[in-house]
Amino acid sequence: MNESSGNRMRSTAHGLRPDPRWPALAPSLAEIVVTAGDPAYAHARSNYMRIGSPTAVFQPATEEGVRSAVMYAAEVRRLTGERVPLSVRSGGHGISGASTNDGGIVIDLSKLSGFEELAPSASLVRVGAGSTWGQVSARLAPHGRALTSGNVGPTGVGGIATSGGIGYFARSQGLTLDHVRRVRVVTADGGIRWVDDEQDPELFWALRGGATHAGIAVDFILDAPMIGSGAPGAPILHQEVEYAVDDLSGFVERWGSWINGAPREAESFLMMQAMGDGRTWVRAQNVWANDDTATARPVLESALALGRVLDHHTVALPYPRLVPHRGGSHTRQQPLEMRAALIDRADRALGEAMSSALVHRATMLGEIRALGGAVSDVPAGATAWAGRHQEAFAATWIHPLGTDAADESFAALRESSTGSYGAYSTDTRPTEAARAWPGATGERLGRTADQVDPERLFDRGLVLPRSDDRALM
Ligand SMILES: Cc1cc2nc3c(=O)[nH]c(=O)nc-3n(C[C@H](O)[C@H](O)[C@H](O)COP(=O)(O)OP(=O)(O)OC[C@H]3O[C@@H](n4cnc5c(N)ncnc54)[C@H](O)[C@@H]3O)c2cc1C
Repeated sequence: MNESSGNRMRSTAHGLRPDPRWPALAPSLAEIVVTAGDPAYAHARSNYMRIGSPTAVFQPATEEGVRSAVMYAAEVRRLTGERVPLSVRSGGHGISGASTNDGGIVIDLSKLSGFEELAPSASLVRVGAGSTWGQVSARLAPHGRALTSGNVGPTGVGGIATSGGIGYFARSQGLTLDHVRRVRVVTADGGIRWVDDEQDPELFWALRGGATHAGIAVDFILDAPMIGSGAPGAPILHQEVEYAVDDLSGFVERWGSWINGAPREAESFLMMQAMGDGRTWVRAQNVWANDDTATARPVLESALALGRVLDHHTVALPYPRLVPHRGGSHTRQQPLEMRAALIDRADRALGEAMSSALVHRATMLGEIRALGGAVSDVPAGATAWAGRHQEAFAATWIHPLGTDAADESFAALRESSTGSYGAYSTDTRPTEAARAWPGATGERLGRTADQVDPERLFDRGLVLPRSDDRALM
């Protein structure tokens, strides 16, 4: 990965430089850099939401490499006097698209993908930030364990474990970040350390929900719950039901009562779209996080009474089949806008707000997911994810018609919300940061960021403004 491999990096008497105004790369960094013209650049430049044109992508395979890349980025800013963008990337599935940039530096952690069992039958595991959740589920399944994540296997461990994780087991296991026991972090000053409830608890608090505010997580120690009896490859019931719904408000109200009354093993995700004739097409994915299928069946059968069913089927799958690992490049698969909201009640009012979003010309799809259960067992101040009391998560997938159209389409849902899931939104304005980290959570996270990253080296994507900027708000 130097000039002889075909890239356009400048070699001068003073060494290799990705940009003539930047410092020369130390040999260890020259070994791991990818720049335009390098065959690896096409993959390294893009993520799920956008095609970037970063000047340098570093792909470290060690935490020392991450530290060197962080220090180099700080030096570039110091020398140029410019806020050269710095992105952190784990799986590249981030919805803000902030894990790539134009003209800056990306630290790509995909080579930090280790997996180690730390306790018998993988009840405690050490997982590299660059692993994907599909890889993790495949490693846990033989032990009869599964860890809630996102519902898409290629999503990175680093992004989800630091920002949230509303997965198929949310009601039974809580958020992904609730299973983080320790984090190995590289901070903006180049420090590397383990943090947990005893060692640097403030940083540990911030790393669970605060995304990059506290630094770059390179390794996680996670507890991995057993699924039901813990039988290897324990089957998980996955029910899909399609409905044609005349009255979405009534449907959401019935769905809310059903899922809130169901045992925690049950989780339900709704995906919906306006059919154009006043009706709404709704697809429910209902999951039973236990191999006790006898108890599950009546619960899942009652989902068929929630509305007029077009089609349905139920299969028993091991978790890795539900959240499979898929390799391949990111090619800006979804050039769209997204908005997210945490909603207190899964009731008629939520259905009304979602209806108003779905009929807007900008809205492509709507989603509602059940929260509560184990998500609500954790006190609001225990992590930097403050939204613990809400019953539902709602989001919309929006045609890229501009920010105003996106805001307008989402206005009713936003109005009825009491928080947001920052990593599920393309909105990175300070107003969104204030929704994701409201009140005391935002103040505490801002204080931590001011302490560990006073220059705000990590300022990409959804981040709180610096304290001096906050004073101006
Ligand atoms: C199609 C799709 C489906 C999704 N489904 C779900 C779902 O079911 N449930 C759910 O909860 N979310 C879901 N998401 C949202 C996604 O999980 C989050 O956006 C997550 O942050 C992506 O993680 P990543 O590592 O793949 O992303 P990346 O693009 O690599 O990173 C995103 C951001 O996370 C931060 N970050 C990444 N790695 C680190 C690290 N190691 N240390 C510190 N900060 C870091 C950075 O700010 C970065 O800009 C989905 C996203 C997509 C595109």
